[in-house]
Amino acid sequence: MVHPAEIRRGGAQVTVYLDDTYLEQVDTRVIAVGEREGLPWAAVEHCLFHPQGGGQPADSGWLEDAEIVPVRDRESGLVVAMAPEGGSLPPLIEGQAVRARIDLQARTAHAALHTAGHLIEAVGRMQGWEMAASNHFPGQARIEFHVPQADKRLADPEGREEVTAVLRAEGRRVVHLDALHAAPCGGTHVPSLGDLAEVVLPTLKVKKGRIRLSYTATHRSRS
Ligand SMILES: [Zn+2]
Repeated sequence: MVHPAEIRRGGAQVTVYLDDTYLEQVDTRVIAVGEREGLPWAAVEHCLFHPQGGGQPADSGWLEDAEIVPVRDRESGLVVAMAPEGGSLPPLIEGQAVRARIDLQARTAHAALHTAGHLIEAVGRMQGWEMAASNHFPGQARIEFHVPQADKRLADPEGREEVTAVLRAEGRRVVHLDALHAAPCGGTHVPSLGDLAEVVLPTLKVKKGRIRLSYTATHRSRS
């Protein structure tokens, strides 16, 4: 086992993805290398890569021409780049200059879904519901809530559509992202709600006593 202090000696990591959702490429350097479960990893100083977490999927990315998957390494506290299954990481050494790049199209799609998740969480809380779970993965995005007080509208389809219509209207009234970010969050966000092209909220479902709001969201065109 490598001691965390040794791993970190190359310098601190800057989490660039928290500052700029749309930065696609950066020239940086390797600050640490190590192994997880027998597989090599490399950490770069300017980390463009959002690792999976908080309901948001990991970015796809590259170090030079090698495809990588970012993973949060608990031992070192760093976001580390590893080869995807079946791939291999090129030999990298500490201090080496490297070009890091992300799949920007996937990033903007993830940021739109993640930010829309905050919006839906906020309108659910406005109803007095408590968030139970969230998932911002493409194709399966949903927010689930506990309902502290019985709501008889939830018992039939018309009532559920009525409640969903209230949520949609509340969502359109939220203008500023500030209202959505009461707690610090490690995800990637769109800068303004105007960057969301479309948020679609089909009629809510009730599953195992929880309200489930599935949704889709897309980013406005950036061209
Ligand atoms: Zn967030």
